[in-house]
Amino acid sequence: MKSENPRFTLPSPEIEHQIAAALAVMTLEEKIDLLGGVMDSVAVGGNTYPIPAAGIPALKMADGPVGVHWWCEASTAYPATIALAASWDRALARRVGEAIGRDARARGVHILLGPGVNIYRSPLCGRNFEYLGEDPYLAAQMVTQYISGCQSQGVSTTVKHYAVNFQEYDRHHVSSDIDERTLREIYLPAFRAAVEEGGTGALMTSYNLVNGVHCSEHPHLIKEILKGEWGFDGVVMSDWVSTYGAESAANGGLDLEMPHALRLNREHLLPAVRDGRVSVATIDDKVRRLIRLALCFGWRQPQQDTTIPLVDEQTATVAAEVAQAGSVLLRNEGGILPLDPACLRKVAVIGPSAHPPMIGGGGSAYTPPWRAVSIYEGMCEALGAERVSFGAGVNLGRPDESFKHSTSFTAQGEVGAIAEYFNNVELAGAPVLTRREENLAHPWYDRPIAPEVDKAHFSVRWTSVLREAHGGVYRFYQQISDGELRVRVGDTVLFDSWDGKALPADAAFSLEADEATPLIVEYRGIGFWNSVQIGWEPDEAVQQDYQAALDAARDADVVLFCGGHTRWSEGEGFDRSFAMPERVEKLLLDTLAINPNTIVLLTAGGNVDMRRWLDRVKGLLHIWYPGQEGGRAVADLLLGRVNPSGKLPATFETRWEDRSSFSSYHNEDGDKHVRLADGIFCGYRAVDREQTTPTFPFGFGLSYTTFAYENLTISAPLLHRGETLLARVEVVNTGARAGAEVVQLYLGDDITTLPRPAKELKGFAKIFLQPGERQTVEIPITERELQFFDPAKGWVAEAGRFTILIGASAGDIRLEGSFELE
Ligand code: BGC
Repeated sequence: MKSENPRFTLPSPEIEHQIAAALAVMTLEEKIDLLGGVMDSVAVGGNTYPIPAAGIPALKMADGPVGVHWWCEASTAYPATIALAASWDRALARRVGEAIGRDARARGVHILLGPGVNIYRSPLCGRNFEYLGEDPYLAAQMVTQYISGCQSQGVSTTVKHYAVNFQEYDRHHVSSDIDERTLREIYLPAFRAAVEEGGTGALMTSYNLVNGVHCSEHPHLIKEILKGEWGFDGVVMSDWVSTYGAESAANGGLDLEMPHALRLNREHLLPAVRDGRVSVATIDDKVRRLIRLALCFGWRQPQQDTTIPLVDEQTATVAAEVAQAGSVLLRNEGGILPLDPACLRKVAVIGPSAHPPMIGGGGSAYTPPWRAVSIYEGMCEALGAERVSFGAGVNLGRPDESFKHSTSFTAQGEVGAIAEYFNNVELAGAPVLTRREENLAHPWYDRPIAPEVDKAHFSVRWTSVLREAHGGVYRFYQQISDGELRVRVGDTVLFDSWDGKALPADAAFSLEADEATPLIVEYRGIGFWNSVQIGWEPDEAVQQDYQAALDAARDADVVLFCGGHTRWSEGEGFDRSFAMPERVEKLLLDTLAINPNTIVLLTAGGNVDMRRWLDRVKGLLHIWYPGQEGGRAVADLLLGRVNPSGKLPATFETRWEDRSSFSSYHNEDGDKHVRLADGIFCGYRAVDREQTTPTFPFGFGLSYTTFAYENLTISAPLLHRGETLLARVEVVNTGARAGAEVVQLYLGDDITTLPRPAKELKGFAKIFLQPGERQTVEIPITERELQFFDPAKGWVAEAGRFTILIGASAGDIRLEGSFELE
């Protein structure tokens, strides 16, 4: 833990003395009891046990990373973390950290379960929206700011998920098999920076395995690298229900099993200590870390700051800033943007992300906001409701409440379905519980199902019949989490993810009027956040919505098409498709056929397949998931009140096949090992190596103004180790509007003993310039930026020539220079 903030005390001899005094009066049993979280946290409101011997109360946790939630009131919902990365604005990352820390203090939260820093390896990963993009340097720069901002409020961050967690597909079982160099150069730098520079108080291990070992019990990752090399003195917690062996986790370096002690408990650890398999010193070290965390953060004092409002306009402003600074303008044909209100008669805002607001991706990060402004509402506020029309067109997900209104019947004609619960994941043997349930809406999440059901290990079958008074095509919806689903209607399998593959959000089926059609739903839990909801509605209603959106589009001067992925098609626990969901893309294509003045406002955690529509749309603004203030922020950007300045934190390839991870992403042969064949040559590093041309390169983003780069100078021709060089470049705003530019510095190592990428991001600066204004940007370079990881020697910077490339993106290098390392 490291901090310059007044709210903390750094680890000190005095604190270590207090810890020793507390440990001295505790029994081994009392110490072991602290090594798991409190399960019924909803009631207790705390996620660790109190430590009376050290005067420490129960510590409350909440997710992260885009809003403070779970086990507390609705909070400010920030844009996706990848939008923050796309802002390339360190000061903004710090303000987000401060704001979220403030939200946490208002709710008495001690430990925030975020931020996430896993590397964007493929556009498919369901959680990309929670992370900071494909580049380790950019992620490291942003995360340290977020952490220091949050911790300055007296709230510990928990950087996650350690490590190499780049997919959601079969996430509890798949091993990321990686060589040491790729691990160190690509997948660990953001964690290292979070520890060494950010001083994060806590860290969470990931669900996946690395090189065949579960991350919660990985001595190499936790003991050797994290606690050894990086000197981490905070708390290592497991992700929810992912601790496998008491001895292996205890000795592997895990300190806290979350959300409760299935392994790190008296039953398993007392015999292990007695037999000498786990030492008392090992147990003490874990308790010491917990107490140290609490004492450094001053948590003997009450954590809730009642002077901070729960509905906090101050933090909402920060959420708005991220949506503005992180949205990336990718296309602007004929300068259609910014829109000129004086020339607009009617604007149609259509698509599934238009309204209600699509503020965030799905899963544990989804933050219920205290207010949320949709793009439709934002445009109505800006232009007057009479000038704005609306049609969602496609409803990809459903409000949770609506599932309850889909009714099926038991064979006896009673409302509901017969549920049979099994305490195994194969629906095998006799059920442990059979009962009638009113509907197929079961958002259990962190709550128990029934005393008989072992939620850590269960499956369930609901048997019922459908009987609808009106015949015709019906659309069926599914929403599940942490589990696999199989749904049969009549003889047709509508949904099937029993093999772990992605599910469509919906499917169509024809029902005869008043005829009984069997409906069988099967689900098995994997992980902690179990939920399953099935509902249906006549397709006629769906078609009417679709037509209404097209009608709105037909009648408008400009169409704002709000779509892409949504929190139902992209989120935790599953990977998504590269393309937008089929019906969303169809709506876009049909819209383009009737109104070419269409601007896409893309919601997604990363790239999507744009081949069928990109060259036909007039504008494209990537808004990721824009948080609760998104609607207003987007309106400001579209109307030119704010100039777009976001830049892509990931390469946007044309086809998914073009990405370096394509052939080593899914565990195709079923052996549960994914070998990262692309190694360090991933993202733009692969683009340079393969000499391919992505649709939009890493670092790309347009503005309503233009910038010229001039006069690169380097402070000295030779860099002496231990010293700093300065690359100086002049940037001029050559357009007519004020705006911000992200100046990017890439380095190439000209002579090297191991193959290195042609260039790697090693510096950047975001500057704001008035029209005509010129500014000199200075970017420092030290030996550290020149290093690579040699498995035989560790981190090395080899003497010789390095090339400096200054660009507006990885694909738009404007100036070049060089220097020598002594
Ligand atoms: C997620 C974590 C999250 C935890 C608690 C897990 O499913 O992977 O990121 O912090 O739940 O909500």
